[in-house]
Amino acid sequence: MDLSIKIVSLHRKHNIYTMFIFNDKDSLEAFLNPLINQKKTIGFVPTMGALHEGHQSLIKKSVAENEITVISIFVNPTQFNNPEDLEKYPRTLDRDVTKVKEISDLILIYTPTVEDIYGNNPAAEQFDFDGLELQMEGKHRPGHFDGVGTIIKKFFSIIKPTRAYFGEKDFQQLQIIKKLVAKENLPVEIIGCPIHRANSGLAMSSRNERLSAEAKAKATYIFKTLQEAKEKFQQQSAKDVTQYVYDAFEKDPEFELEYFEIADEETLLPCIEKEPNKKYRGFITVFINGIRLIDNIALY
Ligand code: AMP
Repeated sequence: MDLSIKIVSLHRKHNIYTMFIFNDKDSLEAFLNPLINQKKTIGFVPTMGALHEGHQSLIKKSVAENEITVISIFVNPTQFNNPEDLEKYPRTLDRDVTKVKEISDLILIYTPTVEDIYGNNPAAEQFDFDGLELQMEGKHRPGHFDGVGTIIKKFFSIIKPTRAYFGEKDFQQLQIIKKLVAKENLPVEIIGCPIHRANSGLAMSSRNERLSAEAKAKATYIFKTLQEAKEKFQQQSAKDVTQYVYDAFEKDPEFELEYFEIADEETLLPCIEKEPNKKYRGFITVFINGIRLIDNIALY
């Protein structure tokens, strides 16, 4: 066994768990290459850590569908346009390892340093995702999707997954990754996974950790409003439903609605006039107590 693989023992209650964590790409590649040569299927779940049940749902799917599952835990600096957001992003590696362990001992965790990924130059490649990157999150987080494309491309070249799992919670990201794979002809299947919600309806997110209990309760209003928007969209125009959502958030000064948009699922272009045979989704970004939360809902 490669000595550079760190064996982590987690003492939880009276049990001792051991599992593998790879801190650098060379040791991960050395471990994976023989398995790739044996044509084992590899599922990959990229995350930024602070794992929750939403992440766990992706990991479980990968474990069910592949012989090997690799998850990455890496807060990727090149996808943050706001330095404060990067700095405050929760980092909870010990807890994350325990959560992975709850699913299976056979999952490999790759938690690289910034240097391991970027050397001494953490810079993003520039991508053209046929305009998908110019909509919604792209407008509000300049450079974000270049950072996402850069890190995912690097991960794919290190891990060489058969399948990679992405949540519909970040629906625009999911479409962009599918575009990346199609345009660059990458040999990986992209699997979209449904949004995992708390019983309250709030979409699970690592950023929820930064919400007070009160703010968390308040934030349930986001999904309630999305559900109302969906109902209204059956009868009303995109413009009227959009206005309805803006009015709904205007009422409460604790919310700051960054955008709500109804867009075509494939092109992510805004819906001006409803067209038959197109699938639309409502996309929302709201600040509550300075924390930026995103969510979306299928409107069909
Ligand atoms: P993140 O750690 O936020 O970068 O998320 C890693 C992956 O988990 C991404 O593909 C997300 O879309 C997905 N994810 C995050 N939250 C959820 C959720 N509530 N339900 C389903 N997938 C999620």
